[in-house]
Amino acid sequence: MSLFGGQMEISGIEREALEFILGASRSRYPQEFAGVLRAKNGVIIEVLWPPETISSGRSAVMKLHMLPLDPSTCGTVHSHPSGSASPSQEDLVLFAKYGRVHIIVAEPFDEHSWRAYDHRGKEIKLKIVE
Ligand SMILES: [Zn+2]
Repeated sequence: MSLFGGQMEISGIEREALEFILGASRSRYPQEFAGVLRAKNGVIIEVLWPPETISSGRSAVMKLHMLPLDPSTCGTVHSHPSGSASPSQEDLVLFAKYGRVHIIVAEPFDEHSWRAYDHRGKEIKLKIVE
């Protein structure tokens, strides 16, 4: 059994979870926001965000490796205060190691400034579930 929710395809994200991500990214700006995604029935429903673990220090992304795993964990989310939603080299290393779906939100952190990627860094479409 996989630690990342089995082989289920992740096809969407609940609007509430997306709004949480956008709000948290804005409130962390100009620092990075980073968290772990949880899914149910192929839809991302929740973001785990332990601020004490990951909010200090240089790279929020690399600290995602240290978060505890649980069977409903499907991937990661982090913000790019730079305004580009493309994965960095460091991001691609993380994507390959951890989870199956990864969201990057770029400044200005609105509904059009986020992208989702698979473990190879290939962009995937997630539908917003109301
Ligand atoms: Zn990044």
